[in-house]
Order: sequence, then structure tokens, then C-alpha cells
Amino acid sequence: MEKMKRCTCGGNFLEAAVERNGVMLKGLKCRKCGETYFPGSEMMRYEILTGKSSLVRKVRRSGDSMIVTVPKQIIEKFKLHEDDMIYFKSDEKDEEITIKILHMRENPVYSATRK
Ligand SMILES: [Zn+2]
Repeated sequence: MEKMKRCTCGGNFLEAAVERNGVMLKGLKCRKCGETYFPGSEMMRYEILTGKSSLVRKVRRSGDSMIVTVPKQIIEKFKLHEDDMIYFKSDEKDEEITIKILHMRENPVYSATRK
């Protein structure tokens, strides 16, 4: 959690848990003005749990595999097509995954062996 030392009003912070739409969020509350600040990671958790982000997907099971659908805005932004290949790459700390896309229309050598 990125720690701010003081509120913009100059007051000191107190760690606080605040309930919003049934989700408990951990933040910092100013002792002086009462303003509450939440770190980005808490806001992301809130958006996931309340379904407020269109970029959140639920993991589903299909046989031995787990399935995640791709949001429409990602399909459009990255010009994803059926039969394109994606590759999962984890960071050094194994905390985040990057998805690399290989567009098969631009890689005819591979697509020829797959159809
Ligand atoms: Zn304040």
C-alpha cells in the first residue's frame, strides 16, 4: 500500500476499514478533516467484488481446463481474432500475468499447420 504521510489538509492519518456496498475496504482516514483515502489495490479489489469493472471476468471450469472469456473492448483494442494464440507470461515475483498475443493472420506459417 502506497503510504501518504499526511492528508492534503495537513492532518495525520489513521488506518481505517470502511464498508462500501458490502465490501470492506482498508484505507487511511484523516484525523483532522475526516477524508478517507484508498490505495489503488483496494479500489481494484472493490471493482472486482462489485462487478463494477467491465474488464473483470469470472474463471469457469470446463473439464480439466479453466476458461476466461475476453472482454469486447480488449478484443477490439488488440484486434483479436478466433484462432489467434495467446501466451501467459508471469512476472519475476509471480504476482502478475502478462498476456502476449500472436496474431495468426500475420503468421501464415503457423496457421497453415493448424487448419
Ligand atoms: Zn485531512
